[in-house]
Amino acid sequence: MTTYDQASWKDEDDDRHEPLLSEKANERVAIEDSPLPDDLTRDSLELPAPAEPALARHYTRLSQMNYGVESGPFPLGSCTMKYNPSFTEDIAARPEAAVHPDRPDRTVQGTLGLCHRLQDYLGRIGGMDAVTLQPPAGAAGEFTGIQIANAYHQHNGDDRSEVLIPDSAHGTNFATAAMAGYSVVELPSGDDGRVDIDALEAAISEETAALMLTNPNTLGLFERDIERIADIVHDAGGLLYYDGANLNALLGQARPGDMGFDVMHYNVHKTFATPHGGGGPGAGPVGVTEALAPFLPDPHVRQRNGEYEYYRPDHSIGKVHGYYGNWPVLVKAFAYITRLGDAGLADASAKAVLNANYLATQIPYEVPFGPFHHEFVASAGEQDAADVAKGMLDHGVHPPTTKWPETVDEALMTEPTEGESLRSLDQLAAAFEAVHDEDDGTLAAAPTRTAASRIDQVRAARSPRLSWQALDSDQ
Ligand SMILES: *Cc1c(COP(=O)(O)O)cnc(C)c1O
Repeated sequence: MTTYDQASWKDEDDDRHEPLLSEKANERVAIEDSPLPDDLTRDSLELPAPAEPALARHYTRLSQMNYGVESGPFPLGSCTMKYNPSFTEDIAARPEAAVHPDRPDRTVQGTLGLCHRLQDYLGRIGGMDAVTLQPPAGAAGEFTGIQIANAYHQHNGDDRSEVLIPDSAHGTNFATAAMAGYSVVELPSGDDGRVDIDALEAAISEETAALMLTNPNTLGLFERDIERIADIVHDAGGLLYYDGANLNALLGQARPGDMGFDVMHYNVHKTFATPHGGGGPGAGPVGVTEALAPFLPDPHVRQRNGEYEYYRPDHSIGKVHGYYGNWPVLVKAFAYITRLGDAGLADASAKAVLNANYLATQIPYEVPFGPFHHEFVASAGEQDAADVAKGMLDHGVHPPTTKWPETVDEALMTEPTEGESLRSLDQLAAAFEAVHDEDDGTLAAAPTRTAASRIDQVRAARSPRLSWQALDSDQ
């Protein structure tokens, strides 16, 4: 692995290649009549002006310090870090894909047509009647979906105060419900890792606005009682929300709409290939049943008299994002779905499930529940899951998600995705095996073979370094 020698702008090469732009870049620009107070303004701005070779080497070095889906397997459970085929980038980068969003509808029929077809594809994939493309992430989709549920209940004069969420759910589910003004009722999982029907029946009431679930759930387990669960929620007048982060297990195999879900989000950046992580970019379209369609965000795209147009649904919750949403991400999802087609999508899910099940049999850690789908949660047992993760970095692979869900001790939530070959699955298994056999001291010191050693994650979050100049200091 490449070592990193504090690559800074003051690379040796800077001296040999006289920066062409330096004088211009460092010119003092006088800002007259600034409305800002003097102590908040500066009168010069020193920008680095390296020569191109130094710049090329700097970024190449940075990219070598990083690890991504293009470096090797990336089994970060729940996140679906699949390899993103580059043809989708080419299509999103085409000039026709970049039209100004304020142009009149009739001059952007291609753009609106793509939105309309993507709404339709996602609707068919999820078994939903109508889909909005606006929300810019899965979490934003959740918030939109719960707002739609809220608007629906309010419209029916039905004031409800609670949202039920299983204890294994993603943190965004709890945050969504709380931000939408609901009290969160946490449902304990049953012994088999699934929804405990008795606990659900005890918690459900006329206060229940919605139950938020994902299926297969966070442990990768299929909620076999999903139809019964849907009946219990619907009989109490509540709605069933589907967290689409696990849709990668279901493409062409089963549909949330058929299971009784009323509203769902799609993490198109997970399921339909867009590089993601570190906060984006993503898109979280939301699908709903016919009864909820009048509450979708404004604008929505429809086809009338052979033309595509924007319109405001009758009881719209309003805007959740400007214009069409995170457009390039949507174009990539469209390209991915059309290239794979029905058979290709079903094949992707089948392989995602096969890969997870194969890997689970090859690792030395206990996998407490099963049979599972596209991901599994192993337990690090006596080892600390965070140490296991850091240790795996020294074996050249990205580790799984750790310590979540909390229903499994020292959880190692592993999702290899469909794109990994037998060889890379074996490489992952070998890394698990090596770390399993390592002593605690070695693991506590790991990683030692990466560009950065173990970082203080709390400090990294609390005192982030936001300036390029910090590279020169040793802090
Ligand atoms: C990733 C994820 C989310 C949130 O999606 P973002 O696109 O990251 O906002 C919600 N639920 C689950 C289960 C997830 O894995």
